Amino acid sequence: MTTNADTAIVRLEDVRLAFGQTEVLKGIDLAINKGDAVSIIGPSGSGKSTLLRCINALVTPQSGRITVAGTRVDQLTRESERIALRKRVGIVFQQYNLFPHLTVLENIVLAPTRILGVARQEAEKLARELLEKVRLSDKANAFPGQLSGGQQQRVAIARALAMKPELVLFDEVTSALDPETVGEVLWVIRDLIRDGMTSILVTHEMRFAEEISDTVVFTENGRIVAQGSPREIFHGNDNARIRQFVGGLS
Ligand code: ADP
Ligand code: MG
Repeated sequence: MTTNADTAIVRLEDVRLAFGQTEVLKGIDLAINKGDAVSIIGPSGSGKSTLLRCINALVTPQSGRITVAGTRVDQLTRESERIALRKRVGIVFQQYNLFPHLTVLENIVLAPTRILGVARQEAEKLARELLEKVRLSDKANAFPGQLSGGQQQRVAIARALAMKPELVLFDEVTSALDPETVGEVLWVIRDLIRDGMTSILVTHEMRFAEEISDTVVFTENGRIVAQGSPREIFHGNDNARIRQFVGGLS
């Protein structure tokens, strides 16, 4: 992967963040190219979610630089600027947080019409296209409570895509799902990545990470301990700690 300033859509340089006395990110350097899929793996508490939240301007590091598609995210001082950034960077969480009183279609149409000012008809057309993409065309008029976890998570992905983001962050989006619905969500993400969506995924699905990633990043205790191709990370034999972690999950 080339990592020069011209091609990176996301770049973190010596990013450091503490919550009170607790150092959570201890100097993160990472560059991600447009169209790449990067998986972040590592033990719980190592700072993976915090790293994603930095990229999305949900938290601001104490020092270091974060550049997303030309914007210095670490220097955004106004909430309005952070909100503008979040329109360009989609994020999908473990908890899908759909509005329970709105239909699937309305959940997807809401942000484009309210926040981007897209005309209703156009937003609905896009929503139906996205529902096709996440294989839920028949659920447009259902309410979230009538869907399985996997289906709800696919709606959440469609909702994120409705903002036409430049990249999408996925934070353990299958961790809360019943095992039998994990696969359908991974299918949808795989399609997105094949379509060229720049994606950063925090995941415990090692086989999936191995299959779809351009780069795998292993974090531990606030640091990137290793990064490389899936082959290097999963089949390189020079890092006992990673071998132990990956082996412990499979
Ligand atoms: P991971 O996603 O790898 O499990 P997190 O980024 O969620 O790790 O958390 C890293 C560390 O930061 C943990 O020790 C967690 O308790 C702490 N942390 C995360 N968010 C906050 C917060 N808002 N306030 C205080 N501590 C936090
Ligand atoms: Mg996390």
